[in-house]
Amino acid sequence: MKMIVLGAPGVGKGTYTQELSRRIGIKQISTGDLLRTQMTLDSDLGREIKKYMDAATLVPDELVIKVIIEYLEKNNIKDNFVLDGFPRTIPQAESLDKIMKIDVVINYTTTREIIFDRLGGRLVCEKCNAIFQIRNIVPKVQGICDYCGGKLYTRADDTRESIEKRLIEYDLKTSPLIDYYKNKGILKTLRIDKEFGPHKEEIMKLIFETIGI
Ligand code: AMP
Repeated sequence: MKMIVLGAPGVGKGTYTQELSRRIGIKQISTGDLLRTQMTLDSDLGREIKKYMDAATLVPDELVIKVIIEYLEKNNIKDNFVLDGFPRTIPQAESLDKIMKIDVVINYTTTREIIFDRLGGRLVCEKCNAIFQIRNIVPKVQGICDYCGGKLYTRADDTRESIEKRLIEYDLKTSPLIDYYKNKGILKTLRIDKEFGPHKEEIMKLIFETIGI
């Protein structure tokens, strides 16, 4: 299955996709994670990407498309994956259409209040990128990843100011993708307001029902 997850920052798409990946082995491909890795490399591409990520704006289409296509080719990935955070603009979606046919797009939604609350306490593993939350997805040992033992950190763009900017970017550039995929007949919308920690099984059941597995 070739899947895309859409939704505003903080809606939970990374968290749900990581759990889906743990349960059924489908590969999560997060452009945010790929770009953060590029950023840490001492390269022209890394420095260019950093400019945009620091400003909490989208990285230009041609750069992201290059990063994702190279990643898919290098790792010989053709099927059984979830694109998390890509596409984020109509030109990105059109580029993707040229190279593959997507089976299903899940559009996750929730309220803005919940988004601010979640991102305000998000923690990420510096080694495996697993997502935690200080109130709702609490690691077994404080500051340490349950899955790989890596250190947890707060993303530089999880400040109130950056979250506001990223939500504006989402509304302007990414939300048109909802109609784009609706028109292709492959969009499924799932509103999840409950928190993942205490409601994990219920949420995963809903996701499995939505994708029909
Ligand atoms: P994320 O980890 O998905 O929240 O993404 C973090 C940041 O990476 C975004 O705010 C953008 O600056 C950049 N980014 C991730 N995916 C894309 C994309 N598909 N297009 C442009 N910028 C992206």
